[in-house]
Amino acid sequence: MTSTAPTKLEAPINADFCLNDEIGFVALIQQNGNDAMIVNSARVSFGKQIREVGEKDKKLLRFLLEHHHGTPLEHTSLTYLVKCPLFVARQWHRHRVGISINEISGRYVEVTDEFYIPNEFRNQSKSNRQASIDSEFSTNQYQECRATYKGIVDESYKSYLKLLENGVAREQARGILPQCTYTQFYWTCNLRSLFHFVKLRDHQDAQWEIQQYAKVMLAQAKEFFPDTINIWEDLGRT
Ligand SMILES: Cc1cc2nc3c(=O)[nH]c(=O)nc-3n(C[C@H](O)[C@H](O)[C@H](O)COP(=O)(O)OP(=O)(O)OC[C@H]3O[C@@H](n4cnc5c(N)ncnc54)[C@H](O)[C@@H]3O)c2cc1C
Repeated sequence: MTSTAPTKLEAPINADFCLNDEIGFVALIQQNGNDAMIVNSARVSFGKQIREVGEKDKKLLRFLLEHHHGTPLEHTSLTYLVKCPLFVARQWHRHRVGISINEISGRYVEVTDEFYIPNEFRNQSKSNRQASIDSEFSTNQYQECRATYKGIVDESYKSYLKLLENGVAREQARGILPQCTYTQFYWTCNLRSLFHFVKLRDHQDAQWEIQQYAKVMLAQAKEFFPDTINIWEDLGRT
């Protein structure tokens, strides 16, 4: 493939921006199935079909979710277009089951100058080695940390472009870009795998940034699966 000039992905009209900038977003761009489909796939053993979910069907949905009968949820499909920092994608792509991913390649295209610069910094948690806690930084301290962070980002992108100008292959030059570089990918899951993702990632133990995406994804899915999602939440995200 030949080189392409960097083009910035435009957010679809239904995208929700998840972080503190106008760059990171998630959009549910395609979906298949609804609450009735989940009920019908559970009832197929009896040869019964419904078009609209009634009270009896909601009881069935509750029973399925409460007892982890997850397979009827697998006859659904949700495709999200995601733009997020590399370090978020790295956490995201650990989810394997019921999921398909295709991602932009820094081998094919020049990486664009889009980076996640936090608009606040959190302190390191003392009790949980993985976690952060709300910031105690003064405005001056924040400005100083931001200048350090952004200075390195700008410097590394300048150096990346310089390497490309000098003829270094994109696949090697990208090695110096920071983890806050934005990437983009299609992520297709079913409702069962979405629940698993949201349960783990919209959770206080998960990193704040991925939590923001998980929250929005569930909200976007709710338009198409309102009963199943409401019952799942009511059950405490079993
Ligand atoms: C708060 C948090 C902190 C984390 N910290 C770390 C960390 O420090 N280091 C690290 O490496 N990872 C870390 N992870 C990633 C974590 O270990 C999982 O890789 C990630 O959450 C995906 O979960 P999963 O495997 O359940 O999902 P999926 O891959 O989607 O799997 C779904 C389910 O399928 C079943 N399954 C999948 N694969 C197998 C298999 N091979 N054998 C048997 N059953 C299987 C399991 O029941 C699994 O829960 C962290 C995750 C979270 C949420």
